[in-house]
Amino acid sequence: MSTLLQQLVAELDAGRLRVIDLTQPLGPDTPVIGLPPIFAPSPGVTIDVISKYDDKGPAWYWNTIHMGEHTGTHFDAPVHWVTGKDLPNNTCDTIEPRRFVGPACVIDITREVEANPDYLLTPQDLERWEKANGRVPKNAWVLLRTGWSTRKTTKEFLNVGEDGPHAPGFHQDTSRILAHDRDVLGVGVETIGTDAGQAGRFDPPFPNHSTMHGAGKFGLASLCNLEQLPAVGAVVIAAPLKLVHGSGSPLRVIAIAP
Ligand code: MN
Repeated sequence: MSTLLQQLVAELDAGRLRVIDLTQPLGPDTPVIGLPPIFAPSPGVTIDVISKYDDKGPAWYWNTIHMGEHTGTHFDAPVHWVTGKDLPNNTCDTIEPRRFVGPACVIDITREVEANPDYLLTPQDLERWEKANGRVPKNAWVLLRTGWSTRKTTKEFLNVGEDGPHAPGFHQDTSRILAHDRDVLGVGVETIGTDAGQAGRFDPPFPNHSTMHGAGKFGLASLCNLEQLPAVGAVVIAAPLKLVHGSGSPLRVIAIAP
């Protein structure tokens, strides 16, 4: 008999624990990351009706969906990056499911990002957060709260200037500490991807992807409602579709929080 799980359900029923949806709506209006034109683009979401209580299916409604794996609120598997391509269990269908569940550490840099949309989380920021909240435990989801999900239009969300996109992310030293020293499950962000907007120009380019996936860690992009989570104390469940050899997938990310 599992009294702990019975207690979990009782606490949810009583409202002492809440289920918080960290997922953006997924549809034709979902923004898609832009890449320099020399690279292949990822298509946005298209939805075609198969039948809707009509001649094609009188009693049922269903659709065909078409999109890139990395669309909307989505999961990055280690195989997504060249640094993680030869790791064991690096695809959506082979990752041990235990690794989809972990404690959330929410690091709030909303103020810094308001002043500078290119802000990168520094090791000093992490140190300060750990002084207040304790060390990031092994197998945690580290979620970067930036307020970015409140940007409602695609233009504001992608924030592309003449010199490319501007959006916050991680300093590469911070990614290294989180991946190798704190041994996290992965990182989650409110932005379109887990690297900063300008990270294509960094040396090395896209250091968070490179570091995290090279260490077998995951990414979560386009999260929302992080302001509803405590800095510590919530549990996040982020399980991608079991796509065969999938590099990532849209998913529903939920948190259980006091
Ligand atoms: Mn991705």
